Amino acid sequence: RAKELGKNGVQFFNKWLYIQSYKLFSMENDLRKALQNDEFCLYYQSRVDTLTGTIVGAEALIRWRHPQKGLVPPSEFIPLAEEIGIINDISYWVIHQVCQQLKAWKEAGYSVVPVSINLPAKTLMKADLIVNIKEKLAGHSVSPSLLEIEITENSLMSNDGAGLSAIQQLRELGIAISIDDFGTGYSSIGYLKQFKVDYLKIDRSFIREIQNNAEDLTITQSIILLAKGFGLKVVAEGVESDEQRELLQSLNCHYMQGYLFSKPLPVDSFTSLLSGARP
Ligand code: C2E
Ligand code: MG
Ligand code: MG
Ligand code: MG
Repeated sequence: RAKELGKNGVQFFNKWLYIQSYKLFSMENDLRKALQNDEFCLYYQSRVDTLTGTIVGAEALIRWRHPQKGLVPPSEFIPLAEEIGIINDISYWVIHQVCQQLKAWKEAGYSVVPVSINLPAKTLMKADLIVNIKEKLAGHSVSPSLLEIEITENSLMSNDGAGLSAIQQLRELGIAISIDDFGTGYSSIGYLKQFKVDYLKIDRSFIREIQNNAEDLTITQSIILLAKGFGLKVVAEGVESDEQRELLQSLNCHYMQGYLFSKPLPVDSFTSLLSGARP
């Protein structure tokens, strides 16, 4: 009897394994087709000035409209996209899409704000990244000052210098550079000495409990001081409450982003927000 149960267990496990690998496999196949099927879209989340509350920028955040699964968040497909080697195609799609959107807003007469995009290490190392971005900007008559690139500390460390020099060249073109999720990487902050950037984005994990946790408060305070010393601007990520907003105001944090101001929105809703109308 014990033997039978064991056998059932193995059969059950095999079936489970089969289903899991099938799920991953079909997800992979679906993802490979997503670009040509036009299933990606960008949501936009505003960045506001801490003192005035005005929208000073937006972050473009990718979503996958899966025909059966619905809206899939980036955490569920970006790692897979890196693994199967299509992440650069996705990055280039995002760059193109944002330039096209900036052009559309400008032509429709909106007061356009700079838009930031998230680029992974693999894309930063692409030899034709700079040419591609230059072409996309020029092709849509978009000023480089309207584009910002967010990179993580880990992607600064995980490459041989090709990515670093690309990023510095982009900065020389007038594109702002942000360090995303600042404070969570494995790198030393010493890189700030050689590597010039424009913004530090304080990771959401330090903001979440900042009103109750003295350590989070100390870390946030220190990042703001560090930024001041280097002449950088700070963005606090994941601001959800008035309490957090007031605290960050008292710390002289320049900018904030979070659900308190706006969730990431589909482009039409974000456009309404830009025009001052109710979304
Ligand atoms: P991130 O760049 O740090 O983006 C911020 C994330 O925090 C977004 O999640 C945003 O929706 C979420 N968020 C913003 N405010 C709040 C808040 O007040 N509370 C909470 N709980 N969350 C908030 P999202 O859109 O799911 O993106 C997750 C990550 O996926 C991003 O983190 C970024 O690393 C990556 N990602 C997004 N778009 C792209 C893209 O186009 N390309 C690549 N390579 N990665 C992307
Ligand atoms: Mg980001
Ligand atoms: Mg972040
Ligand atoms: Mg993040």
